[in-house]
Amino acid sequence: MLIKNPDKVEIIFVMAEENEVLLSETKKRKRPWRAAVRKAAKKAKLVELKSTPSNENEEILKDIKEKFKLKIKKRKEKKRALKVDKSKPKDKKEELVDKLTSSRFRYLNEQLYTMDSADAKNLFAEDETAFQAYHKGYRSQVEKWPINPVNVIIKHLRKLPAESVIVDLGCGDAKIAKTLGKKNTVHSFDLVSNNPLVKACDMSNIPIEDQSADVVVFCLSLMGTNLADFIREAHRILKTGGIVKIAEVWSRFKNLKKFLRALEQMGFKVANEKLLNDYFELITLKKIGKIEKKRPLGLTLEPCFYKKR
Ligand code: SAH
Repeated sequence: MLIKNPDKVEIIFVMAEENEVLLSETKKRKRPWRAAVRKAAKKAKLVELKSTPSNENEEILKDIKEKFKLKIKKRKEKKRALKVDKSKPKDKKEELVDKLTSSRFRYLNEQLYTMDSADAKNLFAEDETAFQAYHKGYRSQVEKWPINPVNVIIKHLRKLPAESVIVDLGCGDAKIAKTLGKKNTVHSFDLVSNNPLVKACDMSNIPIEDQSADVVVFCLSLMGTNLADFIREAHRILKTGGIVKIAEVWSRFKNLKKFLRALEQMGFKVANEKLLNDYFELITLKKIGKIEKKRPLGLTLEPCFYKKR
């Protein structure tokens, strides 16, 4: 191969040499003049090779160019490896923080599913960071799910007329209010208020008048052991004919039939019940009558624990 522009080769060569000097300047060298002598010698050789064009010289120039390319490549690889090494301890630290965050989330989650809502409220009141930690973990779980049931519920609620009042119990980030709040009146409640759309309350005692809601939503929020209190409150605030939407992890239902039967004993008719994506159960209830049984048998849900990653 002929070198079309030998001057370019020389420039690159000299630049690389200067770069090498710059790079090695930080090190303490025994004979600093040697690099300058070598550089001058190489430069002289290059000039000589180019001034006497022959096939042989072109081959040598080509060879020099290849070696130079290789040298630059190796240098880049070395730099890249150094960068990776530097980032290693950071990765480990991040990994550790991630592990701690996720185990804290799992701990809080376990607590919420195994205590009643008064204790859950105290748990979050005692430690202000716990609620944020729980929700950070919850959000990262949601990202792994093929569907988020709150989106399915929102899709259903879009069909409601504008005057409908929606009450979202255990609303988390209040996605329903964020999405439908312009059209409908949406009251969003959670144990802690982490944004202006959310009112803090334990859903066993909702600050809303009797028979004032058209729809009550429990999206993955039936966590406390005093489940009957939540359903009773939903019944109280709902207008007759009003709707309840319950989304829960399917594996929480020990006996779905008995669970639905228990809801019927609490004044509801099961309007619809279906499995979403083999993982979440979506139940739609209609308030049709009075509560016959305050704590019906069968109204139980298993806790939902997240596996360690
Ligand atoms: N419904 C939201 C958030 C689900 S996470 C969504 O689908 O995106 C479950 C939420 O229920 C948590 O924010 C938790 O704090 C809330 N929660 C659990 N028990 C509650 C109670 N007794 N009163 C109010 N909120 C409760």
